[in-house]
Amino acid sequence: MKSSRQLFERARQVIPGGVNSPVRAFKGVGGTPPFIERAKGPFVYDVEGRRYIDYVGSWGPMILGHAHPEVLAAVQAAVEKGLSFGAPTEIEVRMAELLCRLVPSLEMVRMVNSGTEATMSAIRLARGYTGCDKLVKFEGCYHGHADALLVKAGSGALTCGVPSSPGVPASVAEHTLTLPYNDSDAVRELFERQGGEIACVIVEPVAGNMNCVPPRPGFLQTLREVCDRHGAVLIFDEVMTGFRVALGGAQQRFGITPDLTCLGKVIGGGMPVGAFGGRREIMERLAPVGPVYQAGTLSGNPVAMAAGLRTLELVSETGFFERLEEKTESLCAGLRQRAEAAGVALRTNCVGGMFGLFFTEADEVADFAAVMACDQERFKRFFHGMLEEGVYLAPSAFEAGFVSAAHDDDAITATLAAAERVLRRL
Ligand code: PMP
Repeated sequence: MKSSRQLFERARQVIPGGVNSPVRAFKGVGGTPPFIERAKGPFVYDVEGRRYIDYVGSWGPMILGHAHPEVLAAVQAAVEKGLSFGAPTEIEVRMAELLCRLVPSLEMVRMVNSGTEATMSAIRLARGYTGCDKLVKFEGCYHGHADALLVKAGSGALTCGVPSSPGVPASVAEHTLTLPYNDSDAVRELFERQGGEIACVIVEPVAGNMNCVPPRPGFLQTLREVCDRHGAVLIFDEVMTGFRVALGGAQQRFGITPDLTCLGKVIGGGMPVGAFGGRREIMERLAPVGPVYQAGTLSGNPVAMAAGLRTLELVSETGFFERLEEKTESLCAGLRQRAEAAGVALRTNCVGGMFGLFFTEADEVADFAAVMACDQERFKRFFHGMLEEGVYLAPSAFEAGFVSAAHDDDAITATLAAAERVLRRL
């Protein structure tokens, strides 16, 4: 039988850290990551035949659960017609029309192949549109691995202890201004001083790369106001929150309209897809209509579009997000109850189908400092305890968890029973 340990050993000889994306290496929690062979519904199965209830969901895309039969059928039908043409197709038009219909601020949209490409391109466009170079981001937010955005970043950059990566030229990083998340005063002060130089503000409208931190009331509104006053472009990075916290994303949930929106994850249904879009006036600055260049050999790939489109159609069904949120809330409430019974201080944040667990006595976890003050050692013990019990949580205290439509009562009940045993041993 194959073992994850042997595969990890082999992998590390030929792939840096044995993985193609850093958090997968379990650096934040230690130990050997299970190598996954297949997945179905709420479960992933490793090469040793162990089954786990999965709350990573490929880091967000698998909102319908793994290997959903209708998504697979759509992909199979697309594959039969050819894998890529590098020419326009009808399914790209259908995808763009659906996105523009469902996401309130989208008038036009362009498909790319990852969230990183979406944010990188949106920033170039905002700079091209405004003629300014500076961008504002928030500490602990992750927007992919483009140079300008790897400054005080969250996710794997934070887990690996390098929030500001070597290799990013100082001449690039100097244009990135970082502020504390949820600090409206800091935003106003910065704009008072430098508003005229700022091209854009990019924000995760619910932060999901420093665990899960919702916006405080008024924070997103402040961003909208200062951008309007100073002519800056407001970019919502909804790569994670899009089709995750509501059908129309965080912008619909919180009632704030950004100028540009970045999407990824769910819109690809598990295939490599991203998108950025927004106001027509800005989007028409893009090549070939306008001068801001952006392109992609495989962008709008027909197989990827088929997976994404079917996924979006299924999540558009009435009541989908209400049911998803109920599941997520009952999971979080159950975990809090069991923690309390075990005498463990646990806080949870949850928005739609995403959640965060915090081992802390604090009443509120609303910024990077509060996340960093949580008990990381306790998280590691909890994580490994749950893994042994067959529950696969994100292997880092700085990542959000994801619930899918396939997490039925049995899966949630089994998760809570496992948590009860693990919390008692903490
Ligand atoms: N933005 C956000 C908010 C994300 O969560 C991520 C990935 N986790 C990205 C951008 C980057 O997306 P990708 O990994 O597809 O490049």
